[in-house]
Amino acid sequence: MTDTARETFEGSFTQQEPIPEAGIAAALEVLRHGRLHRYNVASGEAGEVALLEQDFAEFVGARYCLAVASGGYALATALRAVGVGPGDPVLTNAFTLAPVPGAIAAVGACAIFVEVTGDLTLDLHDLAAKAGQAKVLLLSHMRGHLCDMERLMAICDSAGVTVIEDCAHTMGAAWNGVASGRHGAIGCYSTQTYKHMNSGEGGLLVSDDAKMMARAVLLSGSYMLYDRHLAAPPVEAFEGLLFDTPNISGRMDNLRAAILRPQLAALGAQCAAWTDRYRVVEAGLAGTPGLRLIDRPAAEDFVGSSFQFLLPGWSAAAIRDLVARAAARGVELKWFGADRPAGFTSRYEHWRYADPVALPATDLVLAGLVDMRLPLTFSLEDCAQIARIIRAEVTQAEGAARAEATTTP
Ligand SMILES: *Cc1c(COP(=O)(O)O)cnc(C)c1O
Repeated sequence: MTDTARETFEGSFTQQEPIPEAGIAAALEVLRHGRLHRYNVASGEAGEVALLEQDFAEFVGARYCLAVASGGYALATALRAVGVGPGDPVLTNAFTLAPVPGAIAAVGACAIFVEVTGDLTLDLHDLAAKAGQAKVLLLSHMRGHLCDMERLMAICDSAGVTVIEDCAHTMGAAWNGVASGRHGAIGCYSTQTYKHMNSGEGGLLVSDDAKMMARAVLLSGSYMLYDRHLAAPPVEAFEGLLFDTPNISGRMDNLRAAILRPQLAALGAQCAAWTDRYRVVEAGLAGTPGLRLIDRPAAEDFVGSSFQFLLPGWSAAAIRDLVARAAARGVELKWFGADRPAGFTSRYEHWRYADPVALPATDLVLAGLVDMRLPLTFSLEDCAQIARIIRAEVTQAEGAARAEATTTP
């Protein structure tokens, strides 16, 4: 065996880049003046949160933006802002992460899960079939895969379904030139450490709808200081809502916003760097027998901060073995077919509080779905090496399976 066949990857799949120096300097300034609460501003000062909201609204081309405490909080706030209440049905992806059904549960609503396709996007046939059952779709662009957004909006518009977009994995992405989060009524983003901007925890909502956004601002805990925002609807939009909207505190603070603003300024370049890494892994795995890559349509301008592939028809034992052998060579793969939720990886039947019904198409996809992070701390050479290791291990497992098939009578 050559050295290449035995190579081991040494990098960390969970190590982020440091906060840019400009963010550190801005954070120190906030710490020195002590005005961390978003509404605690000196005369003539806008505050970092209000400035971040203004910057982010401009970045995605939205009229309004609100910064909040987490991505999950943004989702629950969006559901409340469009009028979802206890017992209401909400359509959502069967393939997503736990904060999505969690946000639906947080408002006492009932999730109706929609199947996923082999391209890892929402199954639009299943959506059309179920659209009559709910007034709201919480659409998750899970792992950065965007469905045909024009078709999705046509289905939802004709069924009178309001769309909320979970863009936790698509900040900076676009479909046919329209920023992700700008097709539906509200777009929600996360600035948690493993997403595209890192403030530890944090979330953002964008919308062009003044009433929904005014409600979201009040819900987030504005203490009637909404006139201190720079990207909120005009004060008239709040009239008629003041006595009917509960304060469910979940504001962002000036320290996190200070860290985020320089990251937002660099986001375009960061997204390009992620996608370069994705393309290197994709090229390295192309044509591997037994492994199916995910198709990326031309209309989709994606941000490749993670990588997925399918092992169609593989047994659970074979995939578990592959994950273990890759791990032994330093490559951290996650499998969506496991019986128990592990780390960030869970699937719909683990969310028992949501009473999921069986979804055979999704089961088939998830049984063969392998997932991995691609942090920007990886170089392009690291990505090429990771692909070589996966390719070698998949090829070997395929060879072994074929040998067994021919020797078994
Ligand atoms: C991270 C994430 C969120 C938001 O999560 P927070 O940790 O609350 O910021 C929402 N949806 C998906 C798919 C996510 O991965």
